[in-house]
Amino acid sequence: MAQTEKWIKSFEHFSRKITDEKSFLNELDSAIGDGDHGSNLTRGVAAVNEKLEQQSYDNLSDLFKDIGMVLVSKVGGASGPLYGSAFISMAKQSKESDDISSLLSSGLDGITKRGKAETGEKTMVDVWAPAVDALKDGTLDQSVIDSALESTKDMKATKGRASYLGDRSIGHIDPGAQSSAYFFESLLEAGV
Ligand code: ADP
Ligand code: MG
Ligand code: MG
Repeated sequence: MAQTEKWIKSFEHFSRKITDEKSFLNELDSAIGDGDHGSNLTRGVAAVNEKLEQQSYDNLSDLFKDIGMVLVSKVGGASGPLYGSAFISMAKQSKESDDISSLLSSGLDGITKRGKAETGEKTMVDVWAPAVDALKDGTLDQSVIDSALESTKDMKATKGRASYLGDRSIGHIDPGAQSSAYFFESLLEAGV
């Protein structure tokens, strides 16, 4: 299967998981944020799907650019520009290589350039960073994703809205880490 088709398939999985788990993502965000993470991303993936239906793609760069632009413009909140930056960085990198680990590594760079979070700050980066490391080693599987996600529970948030809670952010899974777990699970399912 062509790379573009695999990535579209992966985005379909992501889109379905986000939409199915909208309430759960909102619940996670209610505990340490403002309760809208599921609603924000559901709006974003619906807008992306609309765009993808209107368009056909023969290269990853155009596909990633469109996904990124739609996510930046349609998802309210912190997560839209962060996921959007990931795809926009991947659009640039895909002109050099379509290797999965180099693409996702650029995606992570896009997120950290935009959000300035490092690992251990209880954000989506705490799933992206170990997942990208595992991709580089060829060891990404469900257990890597699960343990990265679980690790956010004991962290104290020092970036984003959850940081306002200080120590009270401890004991909850980070919502952006959960949606990022769905993102990497989708890649595995699509066999990208
Ligand atoms: P908002 O906080 O604006 O309501 P969302 O609820 O959609 O936005 O997204 C919240 C998620 O965004 C958090 O759970 C966290 O994973 C992620 N996030 C917030 N700030 C940052 C940041 N600076 N760097 C990386 N991820 C972040
Ligand atoms: Mg929120
Ligand atoms: Mg919000």
